[in-house]
Amino acid sequence: MSETQLLESINSIKGVGPKKLEVLQANGIFTYLDLLTTYPRRYLDRNFTKDIILKQGDIVTLLGSIVDSYIVHGKKSRLIVGFRTLNNERINLVFFRGVNFFHKLFKVERKLVISGKLEYFKGYQIVHPEYEFLTDEKEEEGNFLHAGRIIPLYPSTESLKEEGLDSRGFRKLIYEILEKTQVVENLPKKIIKLRNLMIRDLAFRKIHFPENFEEIELSRRRFAYEELYYFQLLLLYKQKEREKIKRLLWPLPYSQSAATLLKSLPFQLTVDQLKAVERILDLAKKDVPLAALLQGDVGSGKTITALLIALHYIDNHIQVVMLAPTEILARQHYETVYKFMGNMPFLGIELLLGGENKKARAEKLSRIKNGESSFVVGTHSLFQDDVLFSDLGLVIIDEQHKFGVDQRENIRSKGKNPDILAMTATPIPRTLCLTLYGDLDLINIKTKPEGRKPIDTRWYKEDRRTGVYNSIRKYIKEGRQCYIVYPLVEDSEKVDLESCTNAHETLSKEIFPEFSVGLLHGKMKGPEKESVMSAFKQNKVQILVTTTVVEVGVDVPNATILMVEHADRFGISQLHQLRGRVGRSDIASYCILMTSDFVSDDARERLDALTKSNDGYELSEKDLAIRGPGELLGVKQSGLPEFKIADLVSDRQLLEEAKEDALKYSTGDEIEKMEISARFNEGKFLFAN
Ligand code: ADP
Ligand code: MG
Repeated sequence: MSETQLLESINSIKGVGPKKLEVLQANGIFTYLDLLTTYPRRYLDRNFTKDIILKQGDIVTLLGSIVDSYIVHGKKSRLIVGFRTLNNERINLVFFRGVNFFHKLFKVERKLVISGKLEYFKGYQIVHPEYEFLTDEKEEEGNFLHAGRIIPLYPSTESLKEEGLDSRGFRKLIYEILEKTQVVENLPKKIIKLRNLMIRDLAFRKIHFPENFEEIELSRRRFAYEELYYFQLLLLYKQKEREKIKRLLWPLPYSQSAATLLKSLPFQLTVDQLKAVERILDLAKKDVPLAALLQGDVGSGKTITALLIALHYIDNHIQVVMLAPTEILARQHYETVYKFMGNMPFLGIELLLGGENKKARAEKLSRIKNGESSFVVGTHSLFQDDVLFSDLGLVIIDEQHKFGVDQRENIRSKGKNPDILAMTATPIPRTLCLTLYGDLDLINIKTKPEGRKPIDTRWYKEDRRTGVYNSIRKYIKEGRQCYIVYPLVEDSEKVDLESCTNAHETLSKEIFPEFSVGLLHGKMKGPEKESVMSAFKQNKVQILVTTTVVEVGVDVPNATILMVEHADRFGISQLHQLRGRVGRSDIASYCILMTSDFVSDDARERLDALTKSNDGYELSEKDLAIRGPGELLGVKQSGLPEFKIADLVSDRQLLEEAKEDALKYSTGDEIEKMEISARFNEGKFLFAN
């Protein structure tokens, strides 16, 4: 079957009527290729399942039958379905959603396969397992579709199952396709040989109809490689496309203002900061616009680095825009720019935020449009259509992971093929970086300014609370300041805000009446936020009770204590970012992670990691291993395409190989091939071309 045939609609398959077609399409399956690349999620080993030893915490796939089922009524009803394994052990399947639906479905004596995470609560249980009913055993065994002892299980959904598209249903359709014809190879022969890969046709057959586990691994490896290889081709293609764009505006190689700024700084730049400036300016000499990602752990001093670069543009009458994800941060950048450069007479600095007075905004916009303002700092409000520039040549995106691809594109489109300097403190593990931003120039600030001490991080439970408050009191009396952070999640925003504001009440009235305790959260009005923040900066407020609005960027060096409430609700990277609010001077800093007495195993692992390491890169590797890349970066924001089979953690080696091969063996034509776009058109990138 040729590549074009593979892109044919599934409605030509025998057995796909209008209803099946509709539900398959709703699940993202349109073509033969889509169906063939709907890989089994798990495999059930019939032999193995007989004497499997149940262990709490394991993901298990088990064969068995239903022995009873009953609903427990209460504030929130739940369904308990008794499941007996072949080894005669009982597991309770617990359902909180769809209680009545599942009650009808799980009839006593039905045979089925279940899988999920085994927990222990008055006996073994699995909450909302994946399941698949088996029809008569004998019929199954005699059936060519079920290759003996291994049953592949597909990622089916309720709606698919209703149309008969359970694992069996999938196997049938896939069998139909594979029976029709041979699938052509789509990887260069040289690579197949070099990397010892299974050929494509065979791999499809083996991944869907395996006879043993070795075949599963070999076919899986082939498809993982293929996916990574094409992804690398796409990156090469993107890079080529980018190189077609011409630079229109040229920054100066030497800037008098940058030299002046350097002299007036109260500190010396680190070697890495200087190198970053040099390297970026070097890249800006090319006739292709710059697209660079400046990475540096929290507190490594990216802002000043970016300012120094910006001055090389501004000195040549090129406008620079600096985008920040929160108002607090935009204002802080504005103040930094103003503090360092406000006395430079030629420099028009503009701060553009949401919800501003119309007249003031109109005036700013006109100054930006006619080029009077050369440095514009702002938030999302910059994306609006009425924001126009005369000569925008450099776009700086701070905390770039907080912006979506479309937003980054939006701001870029306002310039004259502008250079892009994206900055992030979310350290991205190397492999991911190669994958995600393979088409960008990566620049690292590895070392922090001298004299910074590691942040002493402790994890405490409720019984230590009084002691923690006493320590805070002691440090504040010595002149320091403190953040107390509450989690805020979209789903439970209202409750979360309430607990934050209530805590502020208690803390200010009962616990720290002798200090000034401020409150800061995202739902407050702009001016309110501003006044609290500026009071905190001036040490008029000693304790700031806040939410994750301070997660990124906020810089108050005198604040040296950070207390995080419900720390188990945060991810590793987020906690590390938050922790970056302290340790911004040479004074010793502390981070206190508070939790209740009971935390889950996963949370324990995260909190332990934080207490043990201050290194953002090390932690991000850990985070990647625990949560996977999608979670780590947020799939939507990151631009990370969802790989169907490749796993960026366990397939690292393969990724490196694919990258090497793509550079070495791919021809220009191949890069243009439509298949790449057919596969990855959902995958968005840091910068679309
Ligand atoms: P981030 O990389 O997290 O954005 P910032 O740019 O906010 O870090 O810098 C953190 C703090 O360190 C700021 O107060 C900044 O003025 C200060 N800083 C930056 N570079 C240096 C340096 N070379 N030596 C001392 N302090 C520095
Ligand atoms: Mg920053």
